[in-house]
Amino acid sequence: MRHDLIERYDLRVPRYTSYPTAPHFGPAVDAACHARWLGALDPSLPVSLYLHIAYCAEMCWFCGCHTKATKKYAPVADYLDALLAEARLVAHALPSRMKVDHIHFGGGSPTLLRPADLARTLEVLREYYNVELDADIAVELDPRTADEAYVAAMARAGVTRASVGVQDFDPRVQQAINRIQPYEVTARVIEWLRAAGVSAINMDLCYGLPWQTVESLLDTLDKAAALRPARIALFGYAHVPWMKPHQRLIPEASLPGIAERWAQYEAASARLAERGYVAIGLDHFALPDDPMARACGAGTLHRNFQGYTTDDAPVLIGLGASAIGALPQGYVANELDIGRYKACVRAGELPVTRGIAVTDEDGLRRAVIERLMCDMGVDLDEVAAHHGAAPDAFEAELELLSPLEADGLVTRNGHRLAMTEEGKPLVRAVCAVFDTYLARGEARHSKAV
Ligand code: SF4
Repeated sequence: MRHDLIERYDLRVPRYTSYPTAPHFGPAVDAACHARWLGALDPSLPVSLYLHIAYCAEMCWFCGCHTKATKKYAPVADYLDALLAEARLVAHALPSRMKVDHIHFGGGSPTLLRPADLARTLEVLREYYNVELDADIAVELDPRTADEAYVAAMARAGVTRASVGVQDFDPRVQQAINRIQPYEVTARVIEWLRAAGVSAINMDLCYGLPWQTVESLLDTLDKAAALRPARIALFGYAHVPWMKPHQRLIPEASLPGIAERWAQYEAASARLAERGYVAIGLDHFALPDDPMARACGAGTLHRNFQGYTTDDAPVLIGLGASAIGALPQGYVANELDIGRYKACVRAGELPVTRGIAVTDEDGLRRAVIERLMCDMGVDLDEVAAHHGAAPDAFEAELELLSPLEADGLVTRNGHRLAMTEEGKPLVRAVCAVFDTYLARGEARHSKAV
């Protein structure tokens, strides 16, 4: 990547896991609005559930998630009770016992839940919702807190996919992010998962971390690829200490600069390709026979709050403090504060505090941005036709794209856009051109590279 491009596009732009993006959510969408939206859903629509477990055993200093450290189980158990009460409140607001084919436990650390509580949670969900027998049930797994019995219990409870949190195998990096996790701990948990029949394994890695170098990252990737997870997510560390104060424990001087970050990303992408992984969107890699690689090839990949997904359910219900839901009518976000979240649910109220209704115009732009993020290109005419918009709906944006075209990031053939190889990592800068909220907002986001 040319240095002038790196400097010019070192912008703070959204990750586009939704459109409009979360900083534009407001209080006009509240619990009453959420109840109305839920009640008006077409009962035949498939639903996905996201359960946010907002606790961890200790904080990793790089973490950007909404979570809280606890050494005790009582707060986790108490929180889980509230979360299950919310699952019941939402189920009662729906027009019927709706079909669920995807459940995702995220956090935080879902593997803080005791095995009996994980199993009970799934039982309760099966009671309130019509969970399909072959539902994809995914759990974000912290190898430091899961033993063999735990993994076996997860499998017995019906878990089909595990996202194994790693970040980096280099002890110096692990120390700098306060996440000590020897390679053997990760290798062992993957062995247990496979032995228990949970063969769909993702691994989460990170570049741009303190003290990481291209060489150390490549060593991590070689170790990761040797374990053969079906999917690898390689996120760029977002240093946003004004939003996540614990990140101040990471000295700025230990962080790679923008050129080094880019070198890491480029080298990592090439190394994973050499190891047989297909690049998916901006930051995912999958083995060629994995459903995500197939969806990417077929143009049916999607993007939601968990990142890239094969899940095409039009209704995502988010449960737990800070969880975000996506309905055909708009986005809803739950109360962030755990205490207020629990109080709200216990009072029998849906804990939604903000959100945004998605207009037809938003829906049109969301489709353009989603295709760009997933396919690295978009046919604007096709999207416009699908949404009943005029073929010249994006003339102003095409004008704004001219400098990015001149910089060789994107090519244009009529109303068809395609990111160049060099431009792919900067796809968010192209998405931003279609984002009419960005110019109006004060929100600060992470770097594009
Ligand atoms: S990275 Fe994962 S385990 Fe670490 S604090 Fe964040 S959510 Fe918890």
